[in-house]
Amino acid sequence: MIIAVDGPAASGKGTIARALARHFELPHLDTGLLYRAVGLNLLRWGGDPESEFSALRACDFSQTDFADPELKSEAAGGIASRISVYPSVRAALLERQRQFAAQPGGAVLDGRDIGTVIAPEADAKLFVTASPEVRAQRRFDELQRLGLEVHLADVLLDIQARDERDSSRSSAPLRAAEDAILIDTSALTAEAAIAEALAGVERRLAR
Ligand code: C5P
Repeated sequence: MIIAVDGPAASGKGTIARALARHFELPHLDTGLLYRAVGLNLLRWGGDPESEFSALRACDFSQTDFADPELKSEAAGGIASRISVYPSVRAALLERQRQFAAQPGGAVLDGRDIGTVIAPEADAKLFVTASPEVRAQRRFDELQRLGLEVHLADVLLDIQARDERDSSRSSAPLRAAEDAILIDTSALTAEAAIAEALAGVERRLAR
């Protein structure tokens, strides 16, 4: 069984995907980490994010520690959203994600294009959204908990810039698959969002 969970930054898709993976005892892949790892490689190697060629060279995970907390930083997220517009970068990461989805028993993947490109055959697809203001507040709280000094207005601008880049790129833009279940988490607690997602997936599986 494959479950695809897509949506913009800080929509709650990661929380939902992890909960579904636990519930169905499936392996989970946060595909954003792959793009973040490429971005972080590029930053560390001093490569130019404006160069598709440099970004493609940074798609080498031989030195990557996927538990590195730097991957979760705003800097890695920002550069990930810049290099993820390159078709050659997306192509370089495609097979890894498809293989993860196709493993025996299935998997849960979250990202931007899981239901549309990586696993259009998924048994259940969710598209998780929330208003930009709510997402900015969540990201702000998270960064403050990490002890980082940030301004809410800057976080909101960053979220809006990322939404714009992710939605307007020509290669695999962020959009809901036609058969995705839409979940707006703006007014939901994490527990309520997980319950709604689980109910939706179970309805799909029962069909
Ligand atoms: O989900 P996360 O914020 O970690 O993703 C970082 C960036 O990686 C996103 O802003 C997006 O540009 C890119 N990404 C993508 N396709 C995915 C997952 C992430 O383009 N499947």
